[in-house]
Amino acid sequence: MPMTDTRRENWAATPVGRRLATQLSQGARMLSLDGHDDFNQGQISARTPGADTFVIKNALVGFDESTPDAVVEASTDLDVEPSPLAPPELPLHQAIYRARPDVNGIVHSHAPHTLVFGATDLELRPVSHDGACFAGSTGMYTTTSNTVLDIETGEQIAEALADGNAVFLRNHGGVVVGKSVRHAAVFAQVLERACRLQLLAESSGVRYAWSTELDVKLKQDFIYADLSVRSYWDYAVRRVGREWPESLTWPKN
Ligand SMILES: [Zn+2]
Repeated sequence: MPMTDTRRENWAATPVGRRLATQLSQGARMLSLDGHDDFNQGQISARTPGADTFVIKNALVGFDESTPDAVVEASTDLDVEPSPLAPPELPLHQAIYRARPDVNGIVHSHAPHTLVFGATDLELRPVSHDGACFAGSTGMYTTTSNTVLDIETGEQIAEALADGNAVFLRNHGGVVVGKSVRHAAVFAQVLERACRLQLLAESSGVRYAWSTELDVKLKQDFIYADLSVRSYWDYAVRRVGREWPESLTWPKN
């Protein structure tokens, strides 16, 4: 069965599919600018709410090379044979989408500060605004640090994520989820900065402070409200456009 061609036509034939593929590619490029590149490893995926299919960066391109054409469609139905161009870590995305109907965007990357933070037993603190975004909503997965190649491992990671926004994969990287691919891409950048700043505070060798619970709540309600996240996304898209002007021609619908 010519899976790849059929599936590409499926999503590329609809305005919603094209918009999602463009957002996914813009998200991948902003992750690259934020330091998430590790050759062609790591993925970003997106689905429309309620759909049993989603789109994901193909296995061959890096975040910095992503385009709407370098996207494949995949299914949350485990009986559907994946595209040959689907990334090997597809089961991670399938398991999370199956477990979390509220999640419509997933980033998995080997971002250096997120990865190193996940190699420690430190609790993520609201050292900066960034840390406040994730206070109390990160999980830790330690069973294996290998590439996620099967659905059982994906399901264990979804369990460690629980109803949170991010899960550290020990000695491997991080997974960040959002109610849209825009949220997931922005939050993956926020998590990387939160980890970087806390590691910096830790390395100072002196005591450091972090935000109060009240401030964390206030920050979550304002700095990370949907309207604010939208403005961070729009800023990052403009930055991607300055770095890669060809991205400005990607289909909007
Ligand atoms: Zn990985």
